[in-house]
Amino acid sequence: MASMTTPFQLENTNIIAMEPKFKDGIEYNQITCGYTGPLQQVCPKCGGKMYKHGSRKLNITDTPVIGKPAKWTIILPRMRCSQCKEIWQPELSDIDENHKMTKRAYLDIAQRSLKTTFSSVAEDYLLTKMTIRNIFTDFMQEKEGTMHFRTPTFIGIDEIKIKKIGEVTVITDLEHHTLYDMLNGRNQKTLTEYFMNMPDRDKVLWVCSDMYRPFQKTIGDAMPNARWAIDHFHVVMKANEAVDEVRKRVQDSMSKRERIDTKKGLAYTLKMRERDLAPEDASKLRACRKAERYKPMMQAYDLKEEFFEIYDENPTSKENAQKAFAEWEKKVPDDELFHKFKELAGTVHHFYEQIFNYWDCPIAISNGFTECTNRLIRENNLSGRGYSFDVLRARTLYRKANLNALMKSGNLLIGPVIPENGPVFHMDSADGTEGTAFDPETGEILD
Ligand SMILES: [Zn+2]
Repeated sequence: MASMTTPFQLENTNIIAMEPKFKDGIEYNQITCGYTGPLQQVCPKCGGKMYKHGSRKLNITDTPVIGKPAKWTIILPRMRCSQCKEIWQPELSDIDENHKMTKRAYLDIAQRSLKTTFSSVAEDYLLTKMTIRNIFTDFMQEKEGTMHFRTPTFIGIDEIKIKKIGEVTVITDLEHHTLYDMLNGRNQKTLTEYFMNMPDRDKVLWVCSDMYRPFQKTIGDAMPNARWAIDHFHVVMKANEAVDEVRKRVQDSMSKRERIDTKKGLAYTLKMRERDLAPEDASKLRACRKAERYKPMMQAYDLKEEFFEIYDENPTSKENAQKAFAEWEKKVPDDELFHKFKELAGTVHHFYEQIFNYWDCPIAISNGFTECTNRLIRENNLSGRGYSFDVLRARTLYRKANLNALMKSGNLLIGPVIPENGPVFHMDSADGTEGTAFDPETGEILD
């Protein structure tokens, strides 16, 4: 038979047979081929003469041929040394023996996994979803070294807790609204190690985070030119916690009959800004003001509102904001009932410089984007059981929306080619994550 040269020919092989076969009702091409490459005639170990010593069948997966999965069986000769019994067998340059597939299949599976679901790739290849997932993970680990995001000038650092993975630090580029990296863990050692090894760490000018004490040393050591600002979101959240504490204590001292309730419950209503209250909730709060027993709670509500106003009413003047805080602090009653507000005042003093640095930062550093990212990651994981940290990180970091934004801002230095159209990942948008479907086996997000 004349040697058959086809686009799917593998080097140093010749096709002996090609026949359609079926597995689980799916038709695939079974290709059998022999070896045509050079044979080792002299023992590489001792120089003795080598003889044919049977053969070995290598079963591998290849890229689909005309839309059908392709499986190869390659018959590889074995040679044995007449002197030292050393066994030799050929290695094929087109084959990835470790993954039991052709190198082109390995690359194609990884690329397709960036664009579509593991199960759809698995179907095309007649492999299991877990195999596809493992290939994707291996590929991402190999690519890690070639993918570099430009170090942000404005870094956002946030923390989330993820089931079965634990604490994850999320690092964002606040200027370009992109995800920069994710770290497994949040202790000072993890953070310091990471930021000390970050390229261009001296070019970071602003770091925005919550009030996490270990940052103090990490930021100072690793990013010597950066100023640390605490996002107001994390500060005002404490005022909401304080008003909630007062509410609980006031309500706990009452019988059920005495309690005033609102449509969504007082806990929810009290966290609302006064200007955003629905008319019926506003009237319930007015009723609370008239009821003697609710007075401390409404006093707490007003303290909360005034604390928010430190930010709202002084958007441009740091000095006025500082004055407003001093005025606010004087109004906090000494009563033990308000100890959470005292605590908040203490926190502001402890992080005074960083909290008021917020007013000096030249861009809107609100961690809205970080919060968004966190929500996305957290929701993904609530239903996904199969995630390892690496899969979670790869599929979040390299999702199309993130890579596109990075490319647009010119911050992706070297990296994979991302198609202009079509999704890279099926978790593009940061909103509308409700009702997301997951593959329970692989933890993959399906829509
Ligand atoms: Zn030998």
